Amino acid sequence: MHFYGTQGINENGHLTIGAVDTTELAETYGTPLFVYDTALIRKRARGFIDTFKQLGVTAQVAYASKAFACVAVYQLVAEEDLSLDVVSGGELYTALKSGFPAERIHFHGNNKSVLELELAFDSKIGCIVVDNFYEIGLLKDISEAKQQPMNILLRVTPGVEAHTHDFITTGQADSKFGFDLNNGQADEAFAQVNGHEYLQLLGLHCHIGSQIFETDGFSLAAGKVMQKMGAWKEAHNFECTVLNLGGGFGIRYTEEDKPLEPHEYVAEMIKTVQEEARALKLAMPEIWIEPGRSLVGDAGTSLYTIGSQKTVPGVREYIAVDGGMSDNIRPALYDAKYEAVIANKANDDKKSTYTVAGKLCESGDKLIIDAPLQQVSPGDILAMFCTGAYGYSMASNYNRVPRPAVVFAEAGVHQLVIKRESYEDIVVNDLPLTLKKGE
Ligand SMILES: *Cc1c(COP(=O)(O)O)cnc(C)c1O
Repeated sequence: MHFYGTQGINENGHLTIGAVDTTELAETYGTPLFVYDTALIRKRARGFIDTFKQLGVTAQVAYASKAFACVAVYQLVAEEDLSLDVVSGGELYTALKSGFPAERIHFHGNNKSVLELELAFDSKIGCIVVDNFYEIGLLKDISEAKQQPMNILLRVTPGVEAHTHDFITTGQADSKFGFDLNNGQADEAFAQVNGHEYLQLLGLHCHIGSQIFETDGFSLAAGKVMQKMGAWKEAHNFECTVLNLGGGFGIRYTEEDKPLEPHEYVAEMIKTVQEEARALKLAMPEIWIEPGRSLVGDAGTSLYTIGSQKTVPGVREYIAVDGGMSDNIRPALYDAKYEAVIANKANDDKKSTYTVAGKLCESGDKLIIDAPLQQVSPGDILAMFCTGAYGYSMASNYNRVPRPAVVFAEAGVHQLVIKRESYEDIVVNDLPLTLKKGE
């Protein structure tokens, strides 16, 4: 069995996280339950930050909080000196509620509303990552009306798309995000913001993909963006001070996944940027990165209670859990793969094979196909690993299933950070019918 972070097995043969017995957590808080190993989140955060420090490169490591957003995780990453990416008014509001230092908040998104942008100005966040020409117009209007400065980056699409094991280069990126680097849009965006009274252009941003295991795509993108910076220096004597290379660093979901360590991604990126800076006679920019999945993904474990079981003779053995696609849409949406263990029988051999189904009314609601597992009985606790990113944050109330609770565990102590939704929570925004028939 592969352990993540502080996971272990105690004297009762039970899976532990942060030295807390997961079966006790299931009993205390109910299931489905997300359990986060906060020591592992801290370790991952430090892995990135320390690498930049060791290499002597000024940097900001921003947690891409769409991976998992709540007040407590924002407070945790603030403690670790991370910056924060938000992509909506809701995430920004949560960050402000959590007391996150506004000057370290960066705001992303391809269709930010006027209200969202005004909230960003009013709360004096650190930077807006500008995505498109419409947004430039809004930002000019808002900053001029408020007579208030705002730092901006321009998001560009460099024509590099990275996937887990490879990358593709495209002449023109077919993406809903950002200004194309190659067809003149990025230059036009530069012309529109350069020298504006209130919009202070710091530099460029690119994000090339997700769950990436290789460094080549990052280096290629960094090189292309640096060359654009060089061109602007040459043509306009404008020097970018920030290069944001996005997120997308891969993690281990199953034994097939072999991600690199943070320092390997970061070191390779920096090498490229330093080489390009030298060649283009540019000052070394500040490097910003935006890990999401790689900060919280393997720190999260989902606990479910096993209920019904169904055998399709000669085909497959199904076990069903008390959650499913409503708390983890990734298997249904992306065909994502996971590993699991029976938390109360963690020392037993995995002699059986089960397909883990959810309880939602979709035949595609399966969490793991053909998972090697211990022999199960109803009431056993299934622990599914590596669900910390894009699990809870994509959870829904499909079938009016209440969203799970979330718990942090560290050094033998556990704390509820998101309450389980109640049935009452589910109807709280519903209003009774008042229309009369035929009116
Ligand atoms: C989603 C996203 C990230 C984080 O991606 P991960 O794969 O979770 O690291 C970072 N930056 C931007 C702009 C994103 O859209």
